[in-house]
Amino acid sequence: MATGCTVAGVQASRAVATTHTTTLAANTFHSSDTCSHRLIGIRYIGMSADQPRFQPPDASVAPRYTGIRTFARLPQFPVPHDGVDAAVIGVPFDTATSFRPGARFGPEAIRSASALLRPYNPALDVDVFATLATVDGGDIAITPGNALRTTEQIDAALQPVLRAGIVPLVLGGDHSIVLGELRAQKAVHGPVALVLLDAHADTWDQYYGERYFHGTPFRRAVEEGLVDPSRSLLAGMRGPLYGPGDLDEPLELGFEVITGSELAALSPGEYGERVRSRIGSDDLIRREAGPVFLSFDIDVLDPAWAPGTGTPEVAGLEPRKALAFLRALAGIPFTGFDVVEVSPPYDSAGQVTALHGAAVAYELLTLLAVSRR
Ligand code: MN
Ligand code: MN
Repeated sequence: MATGCTVAGVQASRAVATTHTTTLAANTFHSSDTCSHRLIGIRYIGMSADQPRFQPPDASVAPRYTGIRTFARLPQFPVPHDGVDAAVIGVPFDTATSFRPGARFGPEAIRSASALLRPYNPALDVDVFATLATVDGGDIAITPGNALRTTEQIDAALQPVLRAGIVPLVLGGDHSIVLGELRAQKAVHGPVALVLLDAHADTWDQYYGERYFHGTPFRRAVEEGLVDPSRSLLAGMRGPLYGPGDLDEPLELGFEVITGSELAALSPGEYGERVRSRIGSDDLIRREAGPVFLSFDIDVLDPAWAPGTGTPEVAGLEPRKALAFLRALAGIPFTGFDVVEVSPPYDSAGQVTALHGAAVAYELLTLLAVSRR
């Protein structure tokens, strides 16, 4: 182990890897910063000097079910930290739900289901983890029963991450948590364009007198000036409402809405064009459009594929189409993402909701990798 402290960098990890990979598996990491960081393993045997420092371990060395569960078997590492491009961060908060609770266990279940992910995404021809140095940043401390305080905790935790140039991918948690994410985005990047995929617009004013709730975050975000509704597109809204004016409310706030049935009739290319045109540039690779944030509520999927969620609505998207919609957004320089409302206690025996949550999160990292390559 002492060798790892005296020989800096990748070569050191290669040398030690030969010795230790048979006994140490998965999501361990090597730090070349100082000798106070103990070298506890190696994550990627085939890595070369130009590979990102933070990657999942090589699955040909130890099976993917070994190791402590982090997202995609990534090294767990506190953020912000130098050399990190993207961080997966859990927010296990669910006491702002109106129906089924349980999303506090969403990050854990998505991490567990994500063990099967592989680095290369053929759909967009990108090796996600060879392009982005990615870590699992662990969970943000939250306050059960206090959505407003939790919002402040999320904001405080994410601001330094964003200021370090790291793109966060947050795993919820009920959808109230997005308000904290958007406060941090606004503080660092300014008001963001919101790309929302959700069965609900989440623009109601209050529930039971509570203004900070999982059905209200995007109204609060407009009130607080965190999002630019004129550059935002909400898609997938469906199911019964409280009244005929419910879907007028997001429009009155300035959002554009594509209902669930309209969305199902769009091709992925058409959806991609709607998003690009709404957020303000046809050539987003030039980054002229300003910051863009994507929020994916798992209930945009049909409950056949995502039963484990807070407020399921029938007749939703099939996963194949949802993934195609996301891939149609390749090239947009997103400044943050989340996947919310995965509630494992209501999931099926095969953890199908968590599996789809992990797959969606992987596609979001893929979008980031495409925009960075
Ligand atoms: Mn939602
Ligand atoms: Mn929803």
